[in-house]
Amino acid sequence: MLKSKEGQILGESLEDVKLYINGEFVDAASGETFENINPFTNEVTNLVAKGSSPDIDKAVAAASEAFQHGPWGSMKLSERMKYIDRIADLIEEEAETIAHLESLDSGLPISQTRKMAARGAENFRFYSRMVQARMHGDAYQVDDEFMNYTVYQPLGVVGLITPWNAPFMLLTWKVAPALATGNTVVLKPAELSPLSANILASVIQKSKLPKGVFNVVHGFGETAGEALVKHATVKAISFTGETTTGKRIIKNAADSLKKTSMELGGKSPLIIFEDADFEKALDAAIWGIFSFNGERCTANSRVFIHKSLKEKFTTALKERVQNIIVGDPKDNRTELGPLIDKGHFQKVTSYIELAKEEGCEVYQGTVPPVFKSGNYVPPTLLLNAKNEMRVCQEEIFGPVMAVIEFETEEEVVHIANDVDYGLAGYVWTNDIKRAHRVAQAIDSGMIWVNSQNVRDLRIPFGGMKASGIGREGGHFAIFEFYTEPKAIHIAIGDHHIPKFGKGK
Ligand code: NAD
Repeated sequence: MLKSKEGQILGESLEDVKLYINGEFVDAASGETFENINPFTNEVTNLVAKGSSPDIDKAVAAASEAFQHGPWGSMKLSERMKYIDRIADLIEEEAETIAHLESLDSGLPISQTRKMAARGAENFRFYSRMVQARMHGDAYQVDDEFMNYTVYQPLGVVGLITPWNAPFMLLTWKVAPALATGNTVVLKPAELSPLSANILASVIQKSKLPKGVFNVVHGFGETAGEALVKHATVKAISFTGETTTGKRIIKNAADSLKKTSMELGGKSPLIIFEDADFEKALDAAIWGIFSFNGERCTANSRVFIHKSLKEKFTTALKERVQNIIVGDPKDNRTELGPLIDKGHFQKVTSYIELAKEEGCEVYQGTVPPVFKSGNYVPPTLLLNAKNEMRVCQEEIFGPVMAVIEFETEEEVVHIANDVDYGLAGYVWTNDIKRAHRVAQAIDSGMIWVNSQNVRDLRIPFGGMKASGIGREGGHFAIFEFYTEPKAIHIAIGDHHIPKFGKGK
């Protein structure tokens, strides 16, 4: 477990982060490290082993050996699931530590990282149940001639590449189905939030999962990430991150014809019609952009408000924004914490400046001066925005809500879809026909009607257009990504076989 240098688990000064390869915590082959910076103080938390191509080679070799010759490949399903369930139990035992380290590393408020830690355990439990219940093939009888059937087999070594915005929840969302379906894993976590991946490695070491089945290589995208993507032995890459990175990964994976799954960025609409439940829609719109510090792929960064409600909505938003509790991520009451790093802070701030240039009225909450060393962006409203503005077209990925007025259903569907992305969408109306009509008309992978983003793990998760290719979640991860279907044809009676070469 990651301990502080004084031996305390939850200290601010943590022991350094190593790679986890073949069941052991090791330094990078080069001996190099990089600094892990605390977003609240901008001070160094600890050093992280800087993995690169030789470390990826070692990790992939360990994972390949474990798949081909270790006990994992031939292990009975019930035995494999004992490990998956044990990992879930151990995550629950460490949940408070995970939540604290995640807040420390990412700046996310502790009340939210507690939920993410719990979700990490649930990801393993869910895939244990799902694989046992659903990972089976089909039988196809062809009269009295054939009995054909399918089996679903693991791919082998899979590479998982994850972002910094909800690190533990997102990496367990990939590791759990990958392992439960019988693959072995090399995980490359985001360089800006490396801590929780090593807690998972500690938990997995404690579970006595066979060596080499799960490996972690920290490092930068351009080096460690690319080496994993290009490695010939790796069968598939599951990626969550920015759209531009996703495009590059698809190109780099092409030479070795890898399967890829892409969970990318978003610029999701939330539409409030004149007949909506105003207070609930307001709560959902605010939570949907200001939770996770606004660093949320499914955030409703574009809010479309019916003309008749605009004034009332704007007044209510302004009041709420002033009352959002901006604070120390480790404080239970905090609702909004600091952004992940200075670079991202500058990016978000430059979009707020751009909004002014583009003609928005910018209205912001306040950051208490005591927090000035952190990467805080106050909760921000871009009022009187127009959908064609860059601030409404590009992913800002911070606590910034653009508010756009509309008059008709036809108009709002058109402008909501007039964007490159297509991840999520939210519709607020009490007209049941309109609710279904608009839900079906919005170009996005997921729509919530009269609801905030409540997840059902059985449902396909992912986006269309520039928001991704493929779906995670439920049986979709199992059948569409982490396994290969094999069709087996058995002749059970006589069937015609052409007799070539006997014709003369
Ligand atoms: P990012 O693309 O910068 O990095 C994600 C991961 O990719 C990191 O581990 C990084 O090291 C690695 N990487 C970078 N370049 C690489 C390369 N050339 N080859 C291989 N790996 C490489 O994304 P981020 O800034 O960490 O995350 C924020 C983005 O993630 C946002 O766009 C957000 O919308 C998106 N996101 C999407 C979902 C979803 O489910 N659709 C969920 C969460 C976040």
